[in-house]
Amino acid sequence: MNFEQAKALRLKHWRDTLDDHDFRMQSPERHRSTLHEISARLVEEGLIDQLDQFDMDEMANAAYWLAVEELQACPILYRPSYGYDVVPKGGGPRFGKVFHSILTLDNNRGSKLQPYDGKVCRDGTGLMLKFSYANTTGRIDGLTLTLDDGRQFDLVATERMVEGVVYPVTQDPDVYRWMLDVVQVAMENKHFSIMEKVRPFFEMAKFLPCSACQDHFGKRDDCAACGGLGFTPKPEPPSYTLKPEE
Ligand SMILES: [Zn+2]
Repeated sequence: MNFEQAKALRLKHWRDTLDDHDFRMQSPERHRSTLHEISARLVEEGLIDQLDQFDMDEMANAAYWLAVEELQACPILYRPSYGYDVVPKGGGPRFGKVFHSILTLDNNRGSKLQPYDGKVCRDGTGLMLKFSYANTTGRIDGLTLTLDDGRQFDLVATERMVEGVVYPVTQDPDVYRWMLDVVQVAMENKHFSIMEKVRPFFEMAKFLPCSACQDHFGKRDDCAACGGLGFTPKPEPPSYTLKPEE
């Protein structure tokens, strides 16, 4: 392989990563840092110069801010880094838990022979749940799980892993208000290092920016939808029990 072929192949790897929509939406921060790492290596290896690197990193940054905007416009999304309670639609005890895409059923706890009960994976048409020891499968659309027998469940976010540590969902409206302000300032100023720190917690919180007033300064005070708060609770089942009824 000559220099030009090697260069073309490596640039294609960068371009494929840039165009990887699922990677970008699931983990915008990691998507951006991966692209920056690839371009830095290309400079080290003499395949591109620093001006090329600058242009490529700017494209990666633009893709990041676009992803953040898209995620804010459409925040109800399954995330592999989250832990979810799987709760029957219409009420009833929790069915199980999904954490890092691994399903553990509540009525099957502690069995050494069956360390987990299923896995969420992505196929050509979207997200599916495959059970390990049964023929049952399910599909995940938004945060609704529909099994092939017709049963439907809500996936309720409870926790997520951020840099190796598991954090619970933010329930405190004052903390959310603070994060909303920080995220807005970081967005306006394209301040990546602040956004990177706050966004994972902001995204997981029990609240969403108000869709009626968009937390807009002039409209917020008179907004009936959020009562002037600028944010509203995420739609979730009202309450559920954690232990199955025997
Ligand atoms: Zn509002």
